[in-house]
Amino acid sequence: MGTAPNYDAIVIGSGIGGLVTATQLSAKGAKVLVLERYLIPGGSAGYFEREGYRFDVGASMIFGFGQKGTTNLLTRALAAVGQELETFPDPTQIHYHLPGGLDLKVHRDYEQFLGELERRFPQEKAGIRRFYDECWRVFNCLNSIELLSLEDPQYLLRVFFQNPGACLGLARYLPFNVGPLARKYIRDPDLLKFIDMECYCWSVAPAERTPLINAGMVFSDRHYGGINYPKGGVGQIAQKLVQGLEKTGGEICYQARVTQILTEGGRAVGVKLADGTEYRAQRVVSNATRWDTFGNLLKDQPLPPREARWQRRYQKSPSFLSLHLGVKADVLSVGTECHHILLEDWQNLEAEQGTLFVSIPTLLDPSLAPAGHHIIHAFTPSWLEYWQGLNPKEYQAKKEDCAQRLIQRLEALFPGLEAALDYQEVGTPRTHRRFLGRVDGTYGPVPRRVLPGLLTMPFNRTAVPGLYCVGDSAFPGQGLNAVAFSGFACGHRIARDLGY
Ligand SMILES: Cc1cc2nc3c(=O)[nH]c(=O)nc-3n(C[C@H](O)[C@H](O)[C@H](O)COP(=O)(O)OP(=O)(O)OC[C@H]3O[C@@H](n4cnc5c(N)ncnc54)[C@H](O)[C@@H]3O)c2cc1C
Repeated sequence: MGTAPNYDAIVIGSGIGGLVTATQLSAKGAKVLVLERYLIPGGSAGYFEREGYRFDVGASMIFGFGQKGTTNLLTRALAAVGQELETFPDPTQIHYHLPGGLDLKVHRDYEQFLGELERRFPQEKAGIRRFYDECWRVFNCLNSIELLSLEDPQYLLRVFFQNPGACLGLARYLPFNVGPLARKYIRDPDLLKFIDMECYCWSVAPAERTPLINAGMVFSDRHYGGINYPKGGVGQIAQKLVQGLEKTGGEICYQARVTQILTEGGRAVGVKLADGTEYRAQRVVSNATRWDTFGNLLKDQPLPPREARWQRRYQKSPSFLSLHLGVKADVLSVGTECHHILLEDWQNLEAEQGTLFVSIPTLLDPSLAPAGHHIIHAFTPSWLEYWQGLNPKEYQAKKEDCAQRLIQRLEALFPGLEAALDYQEVGTPRTHRRFLGRVDGTYGPVPRRVLPGLLTMPFNRTAVPGLYCVGDSAFPGQGLNAVAFSGFACGHRIARDLGY
C-alpha cells in the first residue's frame, strides 16, 4: 500500500464536471489531485482515434463557448486557468427530420428559426413567439447573474442585492417544467410533439418532465452565445482544462481507478485505488454518477435516506447505441448541416433505438478526418438489458445487425451512404459502461414522474460530510455546459468550506 501526500481536495474522475471543480479550486490556490480511471481526461466529452479519424465519444453540440453574458461557462472555466480554445460557430443547431414530413432547422438566428416554425404552423404564430420569448426571460435571468453555488447563503444574498429581479424570476421558474408552459400557448398537437422533441434531444425526457430552467438555457443560448465546435475536437476541452490545472499546481493521475471512498466517523477522508494506494484529503469530490458513488464507492455503508429519496424520484436514462463512421465526403450534399435528428414515427420518440441523433463535426473542423472524408456519429437510445446475456459471437452479430439497420435509416438523409463507408465502429451500452465507468452506461438521471422542475435535483454537498458530487447527477443535470455549472458551484462551495 503506497503512502501518499495530503490534499485539500481529491476529485474522482476527470469528466468536465470534475475538471471544472478541480481547476476552480486550483486557481484559488487549493492543493488538488484528480484521479481518472481511463487513459485520457474528458469522460463522455473524450475522444478516440482510428485510422486518421478523431471521433468524439459523445458530446459534439457544444453550448457555453459564447463570448458574452454569464452562461458561457466553458469559456469561463478555461479562462480561469489561463486557457482558451478556438471554436467554429455552427450556423444551425439542429436539422430535424420528423414524422409527417416535418422538416425544420433551428437556425442560429432566432428570428430566422421562429420564421421557419411560424410558416409551418401559421395558426400558432402568436403562441410560438410567446412560448420561446418566455424561455428567453428565463435565460435573461440566468445570464445576468454570476452562476455559483446555491448552497452558499452569502453568495445568494450578494446576487440578490445585485439583481433582485433576476433572482426572483429564477425562483419563480425553478419548480416548473416545459410542458405546462407549452400547453399554455400552443394547441396544435404536432407542434406540441415538436416541443417534446426539442426537449427530448438533450434532456432525454418529453416536455412534461423537462425542467423549464434548463429549457430556458438551451432554447435561448443557441441563439445568443450559439453552438460552437472546438477546433481539434471536443476532447480539446478536457485537454486544455488539464493543462490549466497543472499550470496552477494541480495534479492528475490516469489509470487510477478509485474503488472506495474512505470514511472515518462517517466523514469522507480519502480514497483507495484498485492497486491499494490510499490518498487522503480534506474534501472528496465524486464525478462518478450518484448511483456509482453511493452504490459502489461507498458500498459498505447504508444508502443515506436523502439518496434513497433521490433514487425514488430519478431513474437512469437509457444509454446509447453509437455508430462512428468514416465516409467519403461526396456522400454529403452541399449545405448539409452538422447536427440532425431523425424520427419516423412519433410513437417511437422514447423507444429503444427510436430517435436517431447525428453529428458530422468535420463539416465544421475538417482536420478530424483524412482529406476527402467526413465523420458521421449516429447514436440512438438503447438499454443495457438489450445487450446482456449474449456470447461474444451473438454480441458481435447483434452489433452488426443493429448497425446495418441504422445505416438503412441514415440512407434517407444521406443517399448512397452504405457505398461511401470507409470506416465503421459500433459502441453499445456495454461500451459506454466499460469506458466511461457509468452504471448501465446511462446518459444520466431522468425524472421517474412529473417532478417540480429542478427543485428536486441535489446540489453538490451530500449526506456524507466531506463528500461532494459533481457532474450530470447533480444540479442542473446533463450536458457539458450544465456539468460545468455544477463544477463552478462545487468548486465555489468547497473553497468556502476550506476558507479559500
Ligand atoms: C452519446 C452522447 C452524446 C452527447 N451529446 C452531447 C452534446 O451534443 N452536447 C452536450 O452538451 N452534452 C452531450 N452529452 C452529454 C455530456 O457529454 C455529459 O452530460 C457530460 O459530459 C457528463 O460529464 P460529467 O462530468 O458528469 O461526467 P463524465 O463525462 O461521465 O466523466 C466522469 C469521469 O469519471 C471517471 N470515473 C468514473 N468512476 C471513476 C472511478 N471510480 N475512479 C476514477 N475515475 C472514475 C470516468 O472515467 C470519467 O472520465 C452526450 C453524451 C453522450 C453519451
